Amino acid sequence: MVGATAVSVSRVRARITVSGVVQGVGFRPFVYALARELGLSGQVCNDAAGVIAEVEGSSGAVAVFGVRVRTDAPPLAVVESVEREELPARGGTAFVIRDSTAGAGRTLVSPDVATCNDCLAEFADPADRRYRHPFITCTNCGPRFTIITGLPYDRPATTMAGFPLCAECSAEYSDPGDRRFHAQPIACPSCGPRLTFTQPGAVTSYGEDALAAAHQLLVSGAILAVKGLGGFHLVCDASDHDAVATLRKRKDRGDKPFAVMAADLATARCIAQVSDGEEALLTGHQRPIVLLRRTASAAVCSAVAPGNPDLGVMLPYTPLHRLLFDQPGPSVLVMTSGNVSGEPIVVDDSEALVRLAPLADAWLGHDRGIHVPCDDSVVRVVDGDELPVRRSRGYAPYPINLATPVRPALAVGGDLKNTFCLGEGRYAWLSAHVGDMDDLATLDAFAKAEEHLELLTGVRPEVLVVDKHPSYRSRQWAQLHAAGRPVIGVQHHHAHLASVLAEHSYDGPPVIGFAFDGTGYGDDGAVWGGEVLLADYNGFDRYTHLAYVPLPGGDAGVQNPCRMALAHLFAAGIPWDPRLPAVQTCSGEELALLEAQLDRNLACAPTSSMGRLFDAIASLAGVCHRAGYEAQAAIELEGVAAGAGVGYRFEFEAPGELLGAVVRDVLDGVEAGVISLRFHLGLAELMVRTAERIRADRGINTVALSGGVFVNKLLLEASCRGLAAAGFVVLRHRRVPPTDAGIALGQLAVAARRAARMTEDKEQGICV
Ligand code: ZN
Ligand code: ZN
Ligand code: FE
Repeated sequence: MVGATAVSVSRVRARITVSGVVQGVGFRPFVYALARELGLSGQVCNDAAGVIAEVEGSSGAVAVFGVRVRTDAPPLAVVESVEREELPARGGTAFVIRDSTAGAGRTLVSPDVATCNDCLAEFADPADRRYRHPFITCTNCGPRFTIITGLPYDRPATTMAGFPLCAECSAEYSDPGDRRFHAQPIACPSCGPRLTFTQPGAVTSYGEDALAAAHQLLVSGAILAVKGLGGFHLVCDASDHDAVATLRKRKDRGDKPFAVMAADLATARCIAQVSDGEEALLTGHQRPIVLLRRTASAAVCSAVAPGNPDLGVMLPYTPLHRLLFDQPGPSVLVMTSGNVSGEPIVVDDSEALVRLAPLADAWLGHDRGIHVPCDDSVVRVVDGDELPVRRSRGYAPYPINLATPVRPALAVGGDLKNTFCLGEGRYAWLSAHVGDMDDLATLDAFAKAEEHLELLTGVRPEVLVVDKHPSYRSRQWAQLHAAGRPVIGVQHHHAHLASVLAEHSYDGPPVIGFAFDGTGYGDDGAVWGGEVLLADYNGFDRYTHLAYVPLPGGDAGVQNPCRMALAHLFAAGIPWDPRLPAVQTCSGEELALLEAQLDRNLACAPTSSMGRLFDAIASLAGVCHRAGYEAQAAIELEGVAAGAGVGYRFEFEAPGELLGAVVRDVLDGVEAGVISLRFHLGLAELMVRTAERIRADRGINTVALSGGVFVNKLLLEASCRGLAAAGFVVLRHRRVPPTDAGIALGQLAVAARRAARMTEDKEQGICV
């Protein structure tokens, strides 16, 4: 050991503070290994700020350390900043990992991630003690978010608390040179959880026997409930038409597509076209469901995604998933959330046995608890970039960085595809997918998820933020739980646009915002949804919108695109020609009722909804007249688009021109695919024309796109290209869904400004 007096003048010592997602992801062992490699002495520990290393050695080595601590960080780490502070050299040769310093700081928790390659190699090695272990995991992979019950993140504060480490696991856990150093969820066959197979009337089996029994049932065409990372899946052979049809019937699912899991990338390529960007997403550690263009393959029967040219495909992301594919049997499995239609995903084994009883023939579960549910994420690739459709497993609870700091706040989102958002300082944590807030079970799941995220983030909201819709349950929940805190209301489409601004950390002047969706409560009480807003976080100016048409009968209008087609024709003064498929599909009685309803304006809400315009065009073109699930008509209309043609020319204020042109094409026998294409192109051209008009008027050159309609790849690509070609800067969603699953982020960003103004004005109280 070198004494302090012998310190060479060329030695330097520095404190390097690394912040971001750096705890629970193997950062300290990484620092330890890096310091030893560079011949540095010193120490490393976790504290409230992140990871703090003190390193000492040659100035060159310390400088290299400062760079590589960022560039070579472990796969799950997200390094946000590296700060260096000079210290006096002390000498010494040892490098040690110190215990974490206590402190109520903010720890950023990692999402759950797919099994890493190192674990997979051990899993496949018959000589390894974790050969075929269904719970193999290490510092770089496995469950995190869904098993944490409290902070600090330590084994006793996870659902692994009931599994004491055996001597071998314990040695790995305490060895800084081991990949499993301080990996909280680790286990092995002798100390870890075990699989359980349950089938009514059969003896319960465990471990490899459980797996064999489950596999045999899958091969025989049964429906199995399988416990995953964030909840149960309902699983069956995707090539077995009867099994898939039975699952569809039991889930009361209509034609809504099922996602599938393919055994591996080669299998995925057999059932769908996979681009480079799509491959990266399929095989990345987040492992979302990727929406791919399907190919004709016997491995996936038509009942998996009827009437849909796309297929939601994912690859195995847990060791248990791998085990389902490792024997001769189905190479593609339907994998859909284990829930009764509309309810949250089931996470608990005993609850699964009851709630999934009408759906599953047998259960493959285990005793590692899931503390909070986390559904599979869904993404699409558009123009080479990721477009999130559902941001959940693998993504939540990574925070989004805000342009300006916010005071502690909770935005409760909307009622469809609910997510909520907690924010404080420069961070916004958007929750995992919660679901539709129309039943008690979802409201319970919301409350539990909200409590959990508060615990993980340490945010204690001082302000609540809600949609302005007076009957939204999310809003009612906030009002009930406000306890004297201000409740701020944000208009739905303003929140959509603010969410895309926030995910880009945008902090400039108002932008041209196209907010296109199905339904949002407008400031005039109408159902908005085809909105052109000049917006920033502070507010918006409604520049124009799709002209109002009557929405006959609320939900009935939404579920029957043919009625929307007839309502649009009515509004445009176009007769209901009996040769039109939309007219033919309705009975005489339905037509008479609808006509009376529209004539007298009975139970008709005025709407500017873009989603309903898609419905109308889909039905006029003969593509879809009745919607069994949300956005079915729009999805099928996009799906049939083909051929060549010029865009229909119309204006937001006068969609009647569009309706007239579509009717003429239908009566002329133009194919649905061409009509669809002309509609998509026409809408994209209308957006470009409108943006150019606004630029000429107001000098704005930035365009933001949000709302559920922008899940439509064809429209998104055409409008982005057109706008870019016209010289606009285009902000579109890449990290947060354009649907209502993203509005909580926008609500938070808008309310942050309003809350700041409230503080300035000393204004108090309820603001909705
Ligand atoms: Zn691993
Ligand atoms: Zn063990
Ligand atoms: Fe919306």
